[in-house]
Amino acid sequence: MHAVDLRSDTVTRPTPAMRRAMAEAEVGDDVYREDPTVRALEERVAGLLGKDLALFVPSGTMSNQLALLLHTRPGDEVVVGDGAHCMLYESGAAAAWAGVQLAIAGTGGLFDVADLERAVRPPEPWFPRTSLVTLENTHNKAGGRVFPEASARAVAERARALGLGTHLDGARLWNAAVALGAPEARLAEPFDTVSVCFSKGLGAPVGSALVGRRDLVERAWRLRKMLGGGMRQAGVLAAAALHAVEHHRARLEEDHETARQLAARLRDAGLPVGAVDTNIVVFTVEAPTTAARVVELARREGVLIGAMDARTLRAVTHLDAERGAVLEAAGAIARAVAAAREERPAP
Ligand SMILES: *Cc1c(COP(=O)(O)O)cnc(C)c1O
Repeated sequence: MHAVDLRSDTVTRPTPAMRRAMAEAEVGDDVYREDPTVRALEERVAGLLGKDLALFVPSGTMSNQLALLLHTRPGDEVVVGDGAHCMLYESGAAAAWAGVQLAIAGTGGLFDVADLERAVRPPEPWFPRTSLVTLENTHNKAGGRVFPEASARAVAERARALGLGTHLDGARLWNAAVALGAPEARLAEPFDTVSVCFSKGLGAPVGSALVGRRDLVERAWRLRKMLGGGMRQAGVLAAAALHAVEHHRARLEEDHETARQLAARLRDAGLPVGAVDTNIVVFTVEAPTTAARVVELARREGVLIGAMDARTLRAVTHLDAERGAVLEAAGAIARAVAAAREERPAP
């Protein structure tokens, strides 16, 4: 049994070809805007997303936080989907840096125009001012679900009519594009700003981009420096991201197929597995069995998966998770669940 790490698609290591691209990258000081490789990456990504400009940043958390700073004032409220990354996994940054509070639209992560309308506050002075709506595509907590395209467009259009800014957390937009067979630009089109990650399924070691309208991204330059995200010879990192964008987008379909096959095996073993749109497989266990115990027992068989909450587990396919090893891991996961069920709960 090969050890396999399915905790996240962030665990990939740069390929030999990617490392060569990094070693050979032309660089300069990017705070002086003199790094040609960063410029090349930003131009390529802006083009792919059909936007004016892109800004290379160290993480998806920083690009989401830049978007909040661009679109809001302290005390504002931002409408997000249930389980949004910027609510759960950014260390409370939205409250700390932009000073905003978050209002949840709908349940389960995806939402529609009616959910948006319910979440937006009337313009009375005693309410927080709703200034931004953020969608996540694919939605991580929902299990890599693709945001239905018509619904995303309708929500963004309604938001614009209400005078709100629109931001897309597209950390895995690349996966959504492959799953839908749609160009990234079409999925990005309804939004003022979009965040994309190179360090997830695309397999780069570091980096994300904030992409959008010229006036917004130009302001984000200064805000990035304020947050400590101005990087010097960042072309070494941008070269990895550029390599990932050119060579690892189309192959995401392989990860999706591996995820579908993993899900099928887990279902055959009797586990309740959620719908698989992309590279994330989510399944649950019943009380008193805990997700943490299943994680521990699977780890003893060399299979690393993650616990999303007390009863929910997540396995993510990626560039370094070879299909044969993942399918073998299905057996180990099923055995771990069965063994955890057999154990007596702690007294
Ligand atoms: C990973 C991720 C981010 C950004 O995470 P960083 O670790 O800060 O790069 C943002 N949104 C979603 C949905 C993500 O999955």
